[in-house]
Amino acid sequence: MYQLLCEYLDIFINFIYPRNIYCILCNEPITKDEKYSLCTHCKEKIYFIDKSCEKCGKPLEKLYIPQKCPDCIETNHYFTKGISCVEYNKEIKKIVHRLKYQNQRYLSYHMAQIMKDQLQKQNIKDIDCIIPVPLYKNKERKRGFNQSYLLSKYLGKWMNTEVEKKTLLKIKDTLSQNQLSKEDRKRNLKNVFVVSSKESIINKTILLVDDVYTTGSTVDACCKELLKENPKEIYILTFATGKNI
Ligand SMILES: [Zn+2]
Ligand SMILES: [Zn+2]
Repeated sequence: MYQLLCEYLDIFINFIYPRNIYCILCNEPITKDEKYSLCTHCKEKIYFIDKSCEKCGKPLEKLYIPQKCPDCIETNHYFTKGISCVEYNKEIKKIVHRLKYQNQRYLSYHMAQIMKDQLQKQNIKDIDCIIPVPLYKNKERKRGFNQSYLLSKYLGKWMNTEVEKKTLLKIKDTLSQNQLSKEDRKRNLKNVFVVSSKESIINKTILLVDDVYTTGSTVDACCKELLKENPKEIYILTFATGKNI
């Protein structure tokens, strides 16, 4: 029933915001076959990640030799591997902000398409479930949605994989991570995530989904909790990430 409702809602949203008619960045008309609803000009302003850190998925310069980015050489992450799609720049910031703060939910469809394609390029098989990075309930209520869940919902549909919305919960409100140092980010996220249903995790290959990967402290804090329930692997899929070299 819920699934059916989502389908109808999706058709309805597509009716109000028809897909692939206007470029999602500059709003100029495009042809139906333009990938990701981006015009050729805007596509050039977006850097799709190709060579990346084998651990966290941050982009690496072509001539950079190590397989890991400087951050991953220094720090240990709690996940198996991170995958990200586009480099965080002015244009990407606009897309993410319009989704999160201007309620332009239709953008999540195109973002999720980019994510699905990037994931397919990896050699990751048998993902058992998708878990969106949760928001604190008051924050989600205020925003009206969790952007990571919107992305997960499309991915789940296209990959035919279960999306576990209530398995991982955020039980405390936290300061925005933006202004905090790396150490403070970790402290800020201590004991804020909990696992509510252990059965969904034990021995499962999990895909944890978020919109932006910055230092990895958010997904690491989530993984720390998930790992207590012995999953098989945890992969991270994010839409955008910044360079750290
Ligand atoms: Zn454009
Ligand atoms: Zn890295």
